[in-house]
Amino acid sequence: MHIEIDKDVCIGAGQCALTAPRVFTQDDDGYSTLIPDREDGAGDPMVREAARACPVGAIKVTEPAG
Ligand code: SF4
Repeated sequence: MHIEIDKDVCIGAGQCALTAPRVFTQDDDGYSTLIPDREDGAGDPMVREAARACPVGAIKVTEPAG
C-alpha cells in the first residue's frame, strides 16, 4: 500500500489523524502528514477509512501492481 496526501487539497480537517492515528498526524500548520516510515500504511486497515473520511478527498491509497 502506498499513501499520498495532496497538500494543495487538504484543508486540515483532521479526520485522517482521528481515524488512523497510527499513520496520519497533523503538521504545525494543521495539515495532514504521514508519520515517518508509515508511507506504506503499516498494515493499518483504518487507512482506507481515513481516505474515505477525508471531506475533500485529499488522500490517495494505491496498491502496487501484482
Ligand atoms: S482528513 Fe483530509 S482534509 Fe482533513 S487533514 Fe486529513 S487529508 Fe487533510
